[in-house]
Amino acid sequence: MTTTSKKLVVLGGGTAGTMVVNKLRKRLPATEWAIVVIDKDDVHDYQPGYLFIPFGMNSPEQVRKRKRPFINDGVDVLTGEIDRVDASTRTVHLADGRVVTYDQLVIATGTSPRPDQTEGTLGPQWHRQVGEFYTYDGAVALRDQLATFTGGRLVVHITELPIKCPVAPLEFTFLADDWLRGRGLREVTELVFVTPLDGAFTKPVASKALGNVLTEKGVLVEPDFMVERIDQERKVLVSYDEREVAYDQLVTIPLNMGADFVARSGLGDELNYVPVDKHTMQSTAYPDIWALGDAANLPTSKAGSVAHFSVEVFVENFVEHVAGRPMTHSFDGHANCFVESGHGKALLLDFNYDTEPLTGHFPFPKVGPMTLLGESRANHLGKLAFRHVYWNALLPGRPLGLKSEMSMTGKTPA
Ligand SMILES: Cc1cc2nc3c(=O)[nH]c(=O)nc-3n(C[C@H](O)[C@H](O)[C@H](O)COP(=O)(O)OP(=O)(O)OC[C@H]3O[C@@H](n4cnc5c(N)ncnc54)[C@H](O)[C@@H]3O)c2cc1C
Repeated sequence: MTTTSKKLVVLGGGTAGTMVVNKLRKRLPATEWAIVVIDKDDVHDYQPGYLFIPFGMNSPEQVRKRKRPFINDGVDVLTGEIDRVDASTRTVHLADGRVVTYDQLVIATGTSPRPDQTEGTLGPQWHRQVGEFYTYDGAVALRDQLATFTGGRLVVHITELPIKCPVAPLEFTFLADDWLRGRGLREVTELVFVTPLDGAFTKPVASKALGNVLTEKGVLVEPDFMVERIDQERKVLVSYDEREVAYDQLVTIPLNMGADFVARSGLGDELNYVPVDKHTMQSTAYPDIWALGDAANLPTSKAGSVAHFSVEVFVENFVEHVAGRPMTHSFDGHANCFVESGHGKALLLDFNYDTEPLTGHFPFPKVGPMTLLGESRANHLGKLAFRHVYWNALLPGRPLGLKSEMSMTGKTPA
């Protein structure tokens, strides 16, 4: 048995946690560093696939695999619910009483939909007339529910921002429009998009482009709607300023929150996200704690692409940091978001902390093949192909040839 002098513990073996342990195992000598990843289960979902399940475009089996085969040999895997971190004693406490010590800790426990946070959501119609597609079970239940839909008001609703993949509710609306047309139900359905924002998206330029797509498809938009409760008996959403939106089928995106143990450990903000330096992902409270992926309070989208780009920067910095050298890499908030717009097309958004989504081509200037901020078939095919890239290259930590920092070459403001 090898004895190592130091231990890196990674909480969460999802997108960010898996990538980071695989990449760091190749970079940190096994004789010096033990790497442990802790997760509550052995199930890894390709979450972008949840969007397609209700419309039969992905099967549940295509988005779900076991976690363990994606984690490199040389990484210890512990399965158990994390109860709390004690930063003063550098220990992680599991719900079953096990205690794990660490020298360096990465929190990568993501964010989850919390239907319990809005009154009336978890009533008898939950996962029926009140559907969602932000979980595996929800997406499968919504597929079955939509199969019984014969027309009426189909309402897609965002409770509050930030949510992971903030474009996914728009994509759902665009795909629903297509799906209803294909079934001959569009004429007898009012498609409604209810948002707490004053427009389609958080970024003004993208909001305009996506708002145009909503208008073209005849989607009714109910902006500035801060939901107070869902009245399942009357089938209405009720806002704090007492507006009501009626539905026959609701698809709600509940409030998203980081893991509760983050709050119990005194490491989170009001939504349980870990405050970090936005360029290094180092906790602002403890220099030996880091947060990656959706668990961090980075002011960019909560997205797999952000997890990917930020992990690449983090790995370079972490290797320097533990060798006692200054960290020389800086994360710029780079995000890529494919937006399915229906009719076999998609838009692609490319932005960072400082730069709004631009027009141009991706990943190669001038040639693409993908177009930024405009709809194209190549973008749609890129989105569908990404599931294979995710399982076969991204999670194992293979280089994808995509730069972690946003490139400005060949791009122009919209
Ligand atoms: C419908 C939908 C569509 C999306 N589409 C896209 C897209 O097109 N493009 C894109 O880039 N991103 C997309 N995303 C977002 C993307 O999936 C996430 O941003 C990404 O998975 C975040 O990775 P993560 O490692 O931070 O969290 P996760 O992958 O969610 O991993 C968190 C892990 O922590 C574990 N965990 C949590 N709490 C505990 C605990 N207390 N104890 C033990 N383990 C715990 C969980 O079991 C999980 O394995 C989408 C997400 C959804 C829901």
